Amino acid sequence: MSASSRSLPAVRPSVRRLAAELVALRRDLHRHPELSWQERRTQEVVLERLRAWGLEDARPIADTGATALVRGARADRTLLWRADMDALPIQERNEAEYASIIPGVMHACGHDGHVAIALGLARLLHEGRGSLAGSVRFVFQPAEESAGGARRCIEAGVLDEPAVDAALGLHIDADTPLGATVATAGPAFAAPTAIAITIRGRGGHAAQPHQAVDAIVAASQAVVALQTVVSRSTDPADTVVLTIGTIEGGERHNIIAEQVRMTGTIRTFDDKVLGHTLKRVEGVLAGVTAAMGAEYEFSHYTSCPVLVNDAAMTALVEREAAAFFGDGGIRRRAPSTGADDMACFLEKAPGCYFFLGAQPPQRSRRFPHHHPRFDFDERALAVGLEFALRLVEAYLKQ
Ligand SMILES: [Zn+2]
Ligand SMILES: [Zn+2]
Repeated sequence: MSASSRSLPAVRPSVRRLAAELVALRRDLHRHPELSWQERRTQEVVLERLRAWGLEDARPIADTGATALVRGARADRTLLWRADMDALPIQERNEAEYASIIPGVMHACGHDGHVAIALGLARLLHEGRGSLAGSVRFVFQPAEESAGGARRCIEAGVLDEPAVDAALGLHIDADTPLGATVATAGPAFAAPTAIAITIRGRGGHAAQPHQAVDAIVAASQAVVALQTVVSRSTDPADTVVLTIGTIEGGERHNIIAEQVRMTGTIRTFDDKVLGHTLKRVEGVLAGVTAAMGAEYEFSHYTSCPVLVNDAAMTALVEREAAAFFGDGGIRRRAPSTGADDMACFLEKAPGCYFFLGAQPPQRSRRFPHHHPRFDFDERALAVGLEFALRLVEAYLKQ
């Protein structure tokens, strides 16, 4: 059966009543996207709603984030629900009436949808808190795309009062049909390590290269040699990605460049493998620059750990997905070399971060995440809210 002909699961009346508002909310956020650490308007929209609905402890957190608490009748356990809020430095090329009005900034990953679903969830759980068998801490996290938002929320104590026992969150997936979810037990996303390399030579006249040390030639050798770190120095059974994403150097066609700067990323699923990779990168840089008479500087920063989904929490997501979406409602996927700083929360509390299918029905509207024409099926908002409600209720009932 194709995705579009498949009938959608039924949602409860309170979700159905909220469906149009969720779409309006998502479109408002989509029109006004904000980059990492600049989510001021988004924060205001979120807090304004949370306060209007009477949620407890609704306040800013981690500069541009927001948090609130639904305190159930029996507050014996607390679940964290996380939604990220930031957009990307991309010029939107969609012509929808809700397209971004901010030049060069776009919600091209679906975080606008995450905020809408989490707000709907906060509202309905708060309204029904009298029969809720536990509490739910909400975190509307800034800066997922640039990374660092989750860590700041944890440092600000979002997991502490009341102490969080488990964590859940979803990511909209424009690659998976509506009516299906993807959850991977164990390591599901890689740890991202940003690297920065500076290669220093000695400037000079382009016509007298023998009197200079050409940083561009040294950097070129380094980029090529770095390809062997994965292909020749890594156990084929281990997963490593090493990408040089930027290279920048030189002033003019007739000047030998004194300096070249490069940045890139390493993705790994294991600390030992990461350690080995960093050592090999450093070794290659030392060898290549020594051979060319140049010098190098190398720095790296691992912004979040490997994202590990807890087996029991993933089983809960799978069980509920099968019950709600029916056959084919749960898909498995190999671990992704992508990264998400939900990993920081899951390092502190057992949980599951899963994908919610939201593929646009029309083929012509299907584009990957981070594409200038990215969009998703807005019916996923109500479906996602109903599924989120079921997950929270199932977890707290256990
Ligand atoms: Zn993204
Ligand atoms: Zn994302």
